[in-house]
Amino acid sequence: MNVNNLLVLRKTSLVDYPGKVATTLFFRGCNLRCPWCQNRELALASDTPDQAFISPDEALRHIEKRRAVLGGVVLSGGEPTLYHGLPALITRIKALGLPVKLDTNGMAPHVLETLFWQRETTPDYIALDLKLAPVRYTMLGAKNPTVQLKESAALIHATGVNHEFRSLALPRDLFTDNDVEALAPLVDDAPWFFRLFQPGNCLDPVWDEFPAAQEEDGARLAKKAGQLGKRVDR
Ligand code: SF4
Repeated sequence: MNVNNLLVLRKTSLVDYPGKVATTLFFRGCNLRCPWCQNRELALASDTPDQAFISPDEALRHIEKRRAVLGGVVLSGGEPTLYHGLPALITRIKALGLPVKLDTNGMAPHVLETLFWQRETTPDYIALDLKLAPVRYTMLGAKNPTVQLKESAALIHATGVNHEFRSLALPRDLFTDNDVEALAPLVDDAPWFFRLFQPGNCLDPVWDEFPAAQEEDGARLAKKAGQLGKRVDR
């Protein structure tokens, strides 16, 4: 993947940034391969026709034009921390007077650390995905997931930036109470959201045959997190 050539796709969203009307920029490319991923065309950058994307400069022009009606900008993916121009992009968005939310899988703590060096490059809100027990990330293609996730969570906590944690309840008991227990030490007093897997356009087509996760799957995981003293949200 050529990380110097990442492009973004934009949409306007009422739900991606808590309490704000936001434009979301989706970055092409990802350093994980979650089989249930529904951002297939973003994660597998090579699958995507270039005309579907705009450049970061075009995205910035769009943001500038709509600045008056926007409450913020979400940088999502794929995985935005792979984009080498991320600090400059955040700086330019914040210079327009708009707060930035960063969605990340936490596999690049060194990038987060770099962003946190300066106020201009520090996101105003971070959503950290927690997918499975850290040791199980190897099945998603991660090389040193326990260290990376722990460092990312610790950095976010230490910086004091507003944040949330996000997990996906998977079908067939593939995300268990044991995963919640293993992830819990990474979670501070920020909210931990449990969403439900839905099949459709999955990165691994086998997952499109899987049933959707049920309300009770999410409720069970949330209950476990609550029992561990976490601030759970749905
Ligand atoms: S779910 Fe997120 S982290 Fe996983 S492959 Fe898709 S974009 Fe990457």
